[in-house]
Amino acid sequence: MEDIVKNHIEKAKQITGGQKIPLLINGEFVFTEKTFITEDPAIEEGIAEVCVAGEKEVSDAVESAKKAFETWSELPPRERAKYLRQFAEKIKDLKEYQIAEILDSGLPRSISSRISFGALRRGFEYYAEWCDKISSDVVGIGQNFFDFTLKEPFGVAAIITSWNVPGMFLGFKVAPALAAGNTVVIKPSENSPLPAFIFAKVAKEVFPPGVVNVIFGGPETGKALISHKDVWLVSFTGGTEIGEKIIKEGGIKKYILELGGKSPNIIFEDANIDSAVFLSNVGMFSLAGQMCAASSRIFVQKSIYDEFVKKYVDMAKGISVGDPLDPAVISGPLISKKQLERVERFIEKGEKDGGKILVGGARLNQKKGYFFLPTVFVDLPHNSEVVQEEIFGPVVSIFPFESEDEVIQLANFTKYGLASAIFTRDISRAIRVAKKIRAGTVWINTFGVIPHNAPWGGYKMSGIGREGGKEGLEDMMQVKNVYIQL
Ligand code: NAD
Repeated sequence: MEDIVKNHIEKAKQITGGQKIPLLINGEFVFTEKTFITEDPAIEEGIAEVCVAGEKEVSDAVESAKKAFETWSELPPRERAKYLRQFAEKIKDLKEYQIAEILDSGLPRSISSRISFGALRRGFEYYAEWCDKISSDVVGIGQNFFDFTLKEPFGVAAIITSWNVPGMFLGFKVAPALAAGNTVVIKPSENSPLPAFIFAKVAKEVFPPGVVNVIFGGPETGKALISHKDVWLVSFTGGTEIGEKIIKEGGIKKYILELGGKSPNIIFEDANIDSAVFLSNVGMFSLAGQMCAASSRIFVQKSIYDEFVKKYVDMAKGISVGDPLDPAVISGPLISKKQLERVERFIEKGEKDGGKILVGGARLNQKKGYFFLPTVFVDLPHNSEVVQEEIFGPVVSIFPFESEDEVIQLANFTKYGLASAIFTRDISRAIRVAKKIRAGTVWINTFGVIPHNAPWGGYKMSGIGREGGKEGLEDMMQVKNVYIQL
C-alpha cells in the first residue's frame, strides 16, 4: 500500500508541479485566494489545491464567453471545425490527461482508455465534422410567401459535470456546444477537477480567448453559473435531485440534463448465459458501480435463475478491486468517504428488508482507499430502497421472473429510464421487449456501448435531451423561423 500511495502522490505532483490549480478565464489562468483540496480516493490523500470561482470569477467567465461568442458564432463553419480538430489532435495522446483522470476520480485505467479519455478525443473529432453540415428547412407555405428556418447557437453554455467519466462529459458536451457556435463556461465536479485543468491547458493553446472557460468550485459556484442572466443553455450531468434543483434555480433556459439511473438487465432462458453473466458483472462492477447506466437490477428467467446466480456470484468474487492505475483492475475506489458510508447504509437497509447477501457487503480489507467489495443481493422486495434508489456503488439485486409480460412490468417499475439490456437468442422477442422498455438506451446481447455518433439520454427521471450523434448537436441549437411576404 505504501508504494501505491508514493506512486500516486509522485504522479499527481508531475501534473500540478506542486502549484495551485488556476481557473481559465478569457484565455488567461486566474488564481484566487479561496481554494479547496481535491482528494485521490484510492489513497485518501489530498493531491492538489484548487482555486474556487466566486461570484466575481463566475461573472468574468460568463462575460468573456459572451464577448467571444460575437466572433466565434460568426466564424465560417469550416474555421470552427479546424479548431475542434486541432484540439482533438493535441489531446489524443496526452497521457497526462489520462493520469489526472485516474488519480482524481479513481477511474480504472482500462475504463479511462476505452470509455472516458477515448470519448473525449472522439467527441471533438466527430463534432468537427458536423460544423459545416448544419442545415435548415424551407417550409411550404403558399404562392405569395417564402418561409425558412435557421438553426442558431444559444450564446453562453454552462457545462456542469459529475466526476465519474470526466473525459466523456467534456467530449460529449463541449464539442457539440462549440460546433454549434456556442461558447462555454465549464464547471467540473469538485470531486475530480484535475482532468479539466489539463483540458484547460490544451484549450488555452488552441481556442481564441473566451471561447472555452474553465472554473472550479462546488454547488455554490454551479448555482451562480446556471442562474447567471447571460447563460441561456445549461448542459448538466449529475444526480436527479440536483437536476431538479437546477431547473428551479436556473429559471427559464434550455436544459440538457443527464441524470441518474437504475438500469434493468433482462436474461431470458435461451440467452448465452456465460456472456450474460460476464456483461452483467462488468456492467455493474466496473468503476465500483459508479456508473449512471450500471446494471443494478438483474431479472433472470426462472428456469436458469439458479445457474445464472451461481455463475454471477463466482465471477463477482473474482472481480479485481484495487489500484486504478493497475491495468488489470476493473473496480477502483468509491469517490469519497461520504459515498462509502452511503453504500453501507444501503447494505443495512437491504438486510432489514429481508435481502440475502451472497457475496460482498463489506469494505475491502485495505489500510487506505474507499474500496467496497462487489455485493450481490437476492430475495429483496421490488419496492425496497435498495432496488428503487440509485446507490452509485457496487451493489446489485437479482430477481427471478416467469413471463415476458411480467418482466416488462418489473423492468419499468422504477422512476428512472436511462439504460437497459436484454439477453436472448430470439430476435423477435428482443425487439418486442426493447419497444416496451421505458429507457433511452436498450442494449441487446451486449452492455455499455455508448457510441459517440448515436444519441444517449434518459426517459422519465433520468433526464431531458440527448448527447451524442446529431441529436446531441441539435439540442445545442435553437430554431428561428423566417417568414417572407413576396
Ligand atoms: P451531483 O449531482 O452531486 O453533482 C454534479 C455537479 O453538479 C457537480 O459539478 C456539482 O458541483 C454540481 N452542483 C451541485 N449542486 C448544484 C447546484 N445547486 N447548482 C449547480 N450545480 C450544482 O452528482 P455527482 O455525485 O457528481 O454524480 C453522480 C450522479 O451523476 C449520479 O446520479 C449519476 O447517475 C449521474 N450521472 C449521469 C450520467 C448520464 O449520462 N445520465 C452520467 C454520469 C453520471
